[in-house]
Amino acid sequence: MSLAQVDPEIAGLIAAEERRQADTVKLIPSENYVSKAVLEATGTVLTNKYSEGYAGKRYYEGQQVIDQVETLAVERAKALFGVNHANVQPYSGSPANLAIYLAFLKPGDTVLGMGLPFGGHLTHGWSVSATGKWFNPVRYSVRQDTGRIDFDEVRSLALEHRPKLIFCGGTAIPRTIDFPAFAEIAREVGAVLAADIAHIAGLVAGGAHPSPVGHADVISTTTHKTLRGPRGAMLMADSDEHATALNKAVFPGLQGGPHNHTTAAIAVALKEASTDAFKAYAHQVVANAKALADELLARGFDLVSGGTDNHLILIDLTSKGVAGKPAAQALDRAGLETNYNSVPYDPRKPFDPSGIRIGTPSVTSRGMGEAEMRQIGAWMDEVVTALAKGDAEDVIARVHSEVSELTAGFPTPGL
Ligand SMILES: *Cc1c(COP(=O)(O)O)cnc(C)c1O
Repeated sequence: MSLAQVDPEIAGLIAAEERRQADTVKLIPSENYVSKAVLEATGTVLTNKYSEGYAGKRYYEGQQVIDQVETLAVERAKALFGVNHANVQPYSGSPANLAIYLAFLKPGDTVLGMGLPFGGHLTHGWSVSATGKWFNPVRYSVRQDTGRIDFDEVRSLALEHRPKLIFCGGTAIPRTIDFPAFAEIAREVGAVLAADIAHIAGLVAGGAHPSPVGHADVISTTTHKTLRGPRGAMLMADSDEHATALNKAVFPGLQGGPHNHTTAAIAVALKEASTDAFKAYAHQVVANAKALADELLARGFDLVSGGTDNHLILIDLTSKGVAGKPAAQALDRAGLETNYNSVPYDPRKPFDPSGIRIGTPSVTSRGMGEAEMRQIGAWMDEVVTALAKGDAEDVIARVHSEVSELTAGFPTPGL
């Protein structure tokens, strides 16, 4: 029986979400649209199979097919990123990062990561995360005047606290990450350097952002952001020693059976990401972000660090006279999906911060280019300006109908 027959409620909700995704300009920088091929691989009978262990060394019989699926995913990850080892089993980015702690730290050991309010991730030692509760976190920030990482601060914190693990990468960093600078500091204090490229993996794979390979000891990434795969994650390393520690940490350290349907879809996404078309996509994501940032700057928006090098733009709305949350809500009602976000040194609270975070991976997957980015920037300005004046309803309604017209011309991949 089909889903619609068995469960019309869920089928109806999935159809509604399909329409919503097609009808909005999705600007959330951690999201994307997967291809039809990736969707197809995700919804398969591979979900029925248990395969604890790794290819050739499993704890269940019947791995004739699964071993080949996982081996393909691993080989493609190694080839795409140019690393010696890859583990494609982590359930998502957060468990992948927890596996790094389990591999290299004991409870109470020190980790140096970027503070959450400055663009780091919860799992880089933030207080509410297990990584901040069970380990000893030290945090670096960005400079208030430039919005960029201050390597003198990173180095002096590292020398003072001697962390066992240093994280670079994050969730709200609009600039290129200087992997060699982090590697030099990690070497100086004998720390393991973990590059968390969850946000930028697709840009790295497509040659639109420098690679951490050869600099970081271990690399962690989600597969569902710019890499445009299913929800999942990978851990990569060059040395046998690091790879062995990571493999043991993922299984049996943290996880049970891998999600084989996800593994298959990761393999498909990695194959897609190795094409020239994907390289062009990655570069267009960056070009689109620059075009959108330029339009916003021209319209008086204040961008953290003054612009972007990658797929992401962090807007401080203080100068526009509105806070992040009401702006994000008004934009969403106008068909422009963003998320409210803290900005560095934000005087407001995390649940009601000063900024919004946007990005171009999704709109670029729909085939939009610089002209559409300028239009999106103009719409954002119209909505935010009207909101600041306290009279946004008409503008929201008009922009929403214009957004619908635009999105109708750019079909969503996978649907
Ligand atoms: C998204 C993200 C994660 C976590 O991924 P989940 O799949 O949401 O658990 C970890 N690190 C960074 C930098 C991220 O952007």
